[in-house]
Amino acid sequence: MTRYIDFNDMQKLVRRVGADTFITQLAGYIRADYLRWSEFEKSARVANHNDVGVIELMPISDRSLYAFKYVNGHPQNTLFKLPTVMAFGVLADMATGYPQLLSELTLVTALRTAATSALVARELARPDARCMAVIGNGAQSEFQILAFKAMLGIDRVRIYDTDRAASEKLLRNLGRIDGLEISIAASARAAVSGADIVTTITADKHYATILTPDMVEPGMHINAVGGDCPGKTELHADILRGARVIVEFEEQTRIEGDIQQMPADFPVTELWRVLAGEQPGREHAGQVTVFDSVGFALEDFSALRYVHDLAAAHDIGSATELVPTPADPKDLFACLGEARRGAAESAPAPGAVLA
Ligand code: NAD
Repeated sequence: MTRYIDFNDMQKLVRRVGADTFITQLAGYIRADYLRWSEFEKSARVANHNDVGVIELMPISDRSLYAFKYVNGHPQNTLFKLPTVMAFGVLADMATGYPQLLSELTLVTALRTAATSALVARELARPDARCMAVIGNGAQSEFQILAFKAMLGIDRVRIYDTDRAASEKLLRNLGRIDGLEISIAASARAAVSGADIVTTITADKHYATILTPDMVEPGMHINAVGGDCPGKTELHADILRGARVIVEFEEQTRIEGDIQQMPADFPVTELWRVLAGEQPGREHAGQVTVFDSVGFALEDFSALRYVHDLAAAHDIGSATELVPTPADPKDLFACLGEARRGAAESAPAPGAVLA
């Protein structure tokens, strides 16, 4: 049977362990999988665009497991009371193709994106970084802040959104957490000024310039999460020119990331090389670093693995017969037993004359 985790199950699972622990443990799974980089069969995701959004399929496999995520990005969705980003995914056995897990991934996408951002920032931000700015205070934003608090010890956050109500919602959600001081800034510039880490996580399907070079200070780490599909960016090109840029999977990021603005030979470093110690993360205290995040299938593979392990340990989710296992695998037709009998009964007798 396939384990099925719907949104209610996922809420239960995250509440059972706590969002901080979920993010931290998931970051461990993601790190472990990035360190096995050469074992994966990888490809850039398959994206179907229209004028208002995109729907993407994100497949990946190693020798024993296959995973895919279905995810959309529709910045106007909130006008229709739907999230901008919605997702679900499958983890399957490579030896047989049998689906082991069918899971909601909307909540998990926010958790895994935050876990990945913090994992990268541990390599790229200055070790003394404690103050963060978050530009874009929508669905993903709280998860980013929780991850940076849990994994880097961030204790001050300045938030800004063109929609004041989104910032007030963030403040309501996280404003009473011990050891975390959050304030709403009057502009993106005011939020960023003096911050050690800047997260841009806005949604708009166009070439936006959320950060300009004059807003960037020496030693800043920029976690650029919102520019994640063709025609959708957040950083001025000169910021990229002056920074050390880390990407997840170069082939995909060149199409979707902020570096889509740059020439094909613009130098970037893949994350796995930094995690493996093959390449440095931050090289000196004054360096500006950028994580050009787009979200790579490997992170969802890790998330599905983690959710599968966690759900089994806490016995959460239900068993569903997503695919059949007939007594005789060659006799799929036998599964129609009832319908076949019904069809036979209502069929005219051989030779009968229809009136
Ligand atoms: P959302 O629609 O819930 O929130 C986006 C917020 O950005 C909104 O509150 C909006 O008012 C604000 N915004 C738009 N333009 C702005 C501007 N110029 N300045 C300040 N704020 C602005 O969307 P979400 O689910 O939070 O996702 C945010 C972005 O992150 C999307 O673009 C999504 O595609 C991307 N994303 C990336 C990854 C990844 O792995 N890199 C994962 C998930 C989502």
